[in-house]
Amino acid sequence: SKAEGRNTFRYYSAELTRSARERLTLEGELRQAIERGEFELHYQPQVAVADGAIVGVEALVRWRHRVGGLISPARFIPLAEETGLIVPLGEWVLRTACAQFQAWRNDPSLSPFTLAVNLSPRQFRNKGLVQLVRAILEETGMPPRQLELEITEGAVMEQPEAARSTLLALKSLGIKLAIDDFGTGYSSLAYLRRFPINVLKIDQSFMRDIPNDVGASEIAATIIAMARNLNLKVLAEGVETGDQLAFLMARGCDYSQGYLHSRPLDGDAFAALLRGSPRL
Ligand code: C2E
Ligand code: CA
Ligand code: CA
Ligand code: CA
Repeated sequence: SKAEGRNTFRYYSAELTRSARERLTLEGELRQAIERGEFELHYQPQVAVADGAIVGVEALVRWRHRVGGLISPARFIPLAEETGLIVPLGEWVLRTACAQFQAWRNDPSLSPFTLAVNLSPRQFRNKGLVQLVRAILEETGMPPRQLELEITEGAVMEQPEAARSTLLALKSLGIKLAIDDFGTGYSSLAYLRRFPINVLKIDQSFMRDIPNDVGASEIAATIIAMARNLNLKVLAEGVETGDQLAFLMARGCDYSQGYLHSRPLDGDAFAALLRGSPRL
């Protein structure tokens, strides 16, 4: 009926208004949080499958909200990406992670390991990116060969030719490049071969179903074999069980990252982990 139609309309418009208002509030809070420095980085080790040695660490951002506690990036990265706030936030992440890394890498008892930092699609497309990375390397004294930038498969495949030239420019700084969440988007193998990348990170959705699901196991095995043929390193994300690690070992996967080895830790806890055990 007409009345129902009106009510439905009113209902939806009220919903829309509310969610728009919530978004605006969150956007305002996010803007303030950047100014006030309410973010922190947590660090998750990446280990060699063969012997458990720590070969890298991924920096993961969190928002220390005054009332909301520690907020996961899944809740604010998408909005930061939409609004462009990811650009200043991402700059803070890269600078902070590189500065923090200096304290860890100078420990002579540790073999050199890599610092991995996420780049969002918007950051990756940003014109000033290469110059910014160069400036932060200089400013912090970060050795380029120990920095690895993670870019999602989706972001590089959106405009593969433009992506290729950005990747080449980044590569010329001497840093490493990883394709994140690999296997979730569609990738052209032809492009993959022409991209100057070092590492493929197999998306954690495959790990969840390994070894029980034949499909997930086959896809992961295929990605590992393909990476080896292309002379790339391959890392499996979201590794939670010994069975999954055994699978990776049998298939010749290079690196593993996940709760099995360690959850993401704050800087102090990660430093303690480094001092305590070179192998996980
Ligand atoms: P990602 O880059 O794929 O990072 C891996 C996510 O998986 C992290 O979630 C990590 O805590 C989680 N994880 C690690 N091991 C396991 C495991 O064994 N099991 C399960 N279930 N999860 C595991 P987190 O820290 O919540 O980050 C979520 C996403 O937010 C990241 O996914 C990344 O896309 C984004 N993100 C985080 N930090 C940054 C950042 O500094 N910049 C940008 N642009 N994005 C970021
Ligand atoms: Ca990542
Ligand atoms: Ca990932
Ligand atoms: Ca992901």
